[in-house]
Amino acid sequence: MMQLYQPLNILGFAYREIKQSLIDMEKMFSLLNVKQEVEDRPDARPLQVDGAAIAFDNVHFRYEEDRPILKGVSFTARPGEKIAIVGHSGAGKSTISRILYRFYDIDEGSVTIDGQDIRDVTQDSLRAAIGMVPQDTVLFNETIGYNIAYAKPGATQDEIEQAAQMAQIHDFVTGLPKGYDTVVGERGLKLSGGEKQRVAIARTILKNPPILILDEATSALDSVTEQGIQTALRNVAESRTTLVIAHRLSTIIDADRILVMDDGQIIEQGTHAELLAKGGDYAELWQRQQEDRQAAE
Ligand code: ADP
Ligand code: MG
Repeated sequence: MMQLYQPLNILGFAYREIKQSLIDMEKMFSLLNVKQEVEDRPDARPLQVDGAAIAFDNVHFRYEEDRPILKGVSFTARPGEKIAIVGHSGAGKSTISRILYRFYDIDEGSVTIDGQDIRDVTQDSLRAAIGMVPQDTVLFNETIGYNIAYAKPGATQDEIEQAAQMAQIHDFVTGLPKGYDTVVGERGLKLSGGEKQRVAIARTILKNPPILILDEATSALDSVTEQGIQTALRNVAESRTTLVIAHRLSTIIDADRILVMDDGQIIEQGTHAELLAKGGDYAELWQRQQEDRQAAE
């Protein structure tokens, strides 16, 4: 029995090493409950990142027949720029992030990174270039250390802790009796939305991608947690092309450009100051959030 088990075990180990990223991707897909319907072209080449400029050009997309979701979305992000996307729930903000990550292929238009259509490059290389911190972070039922390190197999404990520090979660973790060995998730410690998102930010810092997508958690956060997340985001967004989907406008005042979305279209676009001066939808949203903030204080 042992004789049979041993080679299989070694084979299994090698297989696991090689396929680790693929397996994790599959895990992620099943956790996110996303159909894996896109395929590499036979002649797909690896994405060559040079500054990581992003361009959406007249993008149309629907999840289901007869229900258009994105209706001609165009915008650009120059290398290192921070682009914010705001708008009502259901406007199509998260869909933009899913399309950039190529969870789905679009129906019309194009999405390019440094001039390369994302349909022409391998999914592996595309996703290696993007750090995605989703709206509702799902963690594996594993230790916090594992959850941070999994984007970079073989990361040292030092690297893990450095990333956690930048993500403003290190002190929280070291305060736990088992520290980085604490198992989280359904069968372990339950983390709050803000804590989970900071773990995901730490993971992304370790992955060190040229492109970053942050989909802010919708749930209300206490102001200490919000401050922590904002600091974490500023740390990680530096020198990367960043797409921030924001609910709290206070997070994105410093964005190079703010896209205001409504019903699958960009209805306003500009800096915070420009959009306030314009006195349109953004200015109204800003005004309302200021009032809410004052009422809360
Ligand atoms: P936002 O992030 O701005 O709140 P989303 O991009 O998540 O909006 O969703 C835009 C629209 O697409 C919503 O009406 C939503 O119900 C719909 N939608 C999102 N995901 C799916 C899906 N997997 N299948 C069908 N419709 C979807
Ligand atoms: Mg969303």
